[in-house]
Amino acid sequence: MYDLARTLRDAPRSITGTGVRATLSSISDHLPLRVHEVPSGTPVLDWTVPPEWNVKEAWLAAPDGTRVADWSRNPLHLMGYSTPIRARVDLKDLAPHLYSLPDRPTLIPYRTSYYVRTWGFCLSDEVRRTLPDGEYEVCVDATLDDAGSLSYGEVFFPGSVDEQVLISTHVCHPVMANDNLSGIVVATALGGWICQQPRHWSYRILFVPGTIGSITWLARNRQASAGIRAGLVLTGLGDRAGFTYKRSRRGASWTDRVMEHVLSEAGEETRIVDFSPYGYDERQYCSPGFDLPIGRLTRSSHGEYAEYHTSGDDLDFITPYQLEGSLSVLRRVVEIFETDRRYVNTHPFGEPNLGRRGLYRQVGGAVDQRSVELGYLWMLSQSDGDHSLLDVARRSGLAYDALRSASLALVEAGLLTDVGSAAR
Ligand code: ZN
Repeated sequence: MYDLARTLRDAPRSITGTGVRATLSSISDHLPLRVHEVPSGTPVLDWTVPPEWNVKEAWLAAPDGTRVADWSRNPLHLMGYSTPIRARVDLKDLAPHLYSLPDRPTLIPYRTSYYVRTWGFCLSDEVRRTLPDGEYEVCVDATLDDAGSLSYGEVFFPGSVDEQVLISTHVCHPVMANDNLSGIVVATALGGWICQQPRHWSYRILFVPGTIGSITWLARNRQASAGIRAGLVLTGLGDRAGFTYKRSRRGASWTDRVMEHVLSEAGEETRIVDFSPYGYDERQYCSPGFDLPIGRLTRSSHGEYAEYHTSGDDLDFITPYQLEGSLSVLRRVVEIFETDRRYVNTHPFGEPNLGRRGLYRQVGGAVDQRSVELGYLWMLSQSDGDHSLLDVARRSGLAYDALRSASLALVEAGLLTDVGSAAR
């Protein structure tokens, strides 16, 4: 994952353009990705696909010719979606087009202006403060092409049912590692793993530019979206903090319950926060017309760390260890999505005779035998077709995997019938 992040780092991503295409092409080396191109100008829900933006060169030169900002050195130097310009501008007239962070003077900020046509340069405040008066040369050699398109990638792994789990990550931020390379590489690795697993659910993984990409996907897939039973938006999965899970708008969806359980057993500091209509693409998936059961997994949340949306969010800010920890949580989430079933007790009048069926100790047993037997008793007690394995785990305090073994043994003995997934 870390190597893939390194490979993807320099593709000049934005919400459209060659950087997104190069990113999707690298992901295609690992996953059977289908890349969609949606023409600029296409109406999508209440939005319109913007013109495609590409940059050839962009720099700002001081009166002595020194390039104080240069897109080829770091794409963050140029405000995303800057309009083309070639001019000589006095420093005082340049001021409204310059962005820096006085409270974090060494960092270059990340700025975009997708829907208001303007141009701008971003630089560290310590450089900005040393800029001499005089005339600066401004060059933005970029194109905003109305005949271009928006690109997004989609992977679909069919399962034994058409209903699906949706995983979505954004692919529009240049250079920065936690936001958004970490989401891209963890989603890619997760897809590679899901591809090799037997599947009850179908799985769809989306690599979309933020906001406009998820809106575009939803506009084109209203019908498919109705079959989504669970899902997650992934980003910010590589920094050194513990996990933050943001619940879906529904608040107690199956995704929310599974995530809360998995994080409780993850052995890392975790924080569960309620839905709010601010953040990443969960805003679109959870808009009231769709109201999908989709939450968001991050480590640090957006805006909570000094490096957020700056040049400080580089490859040193994320670690292979944290990426791996994030992937391992997600593999566990998928395991529970696959196995969290509901059962019905076929002998609900009184306790069935477990001893007669060889399920109960004949003589006083060892401690672990005792917890297996507790698993039988809890499953028989709660299996009325409504409560799922996860519900029983939460209520009993017994381990999910122990209850799963117990339920499989009870099915074998004819005492439980599997009546379907926990997600209905
Ligand atoms: Zn961001």
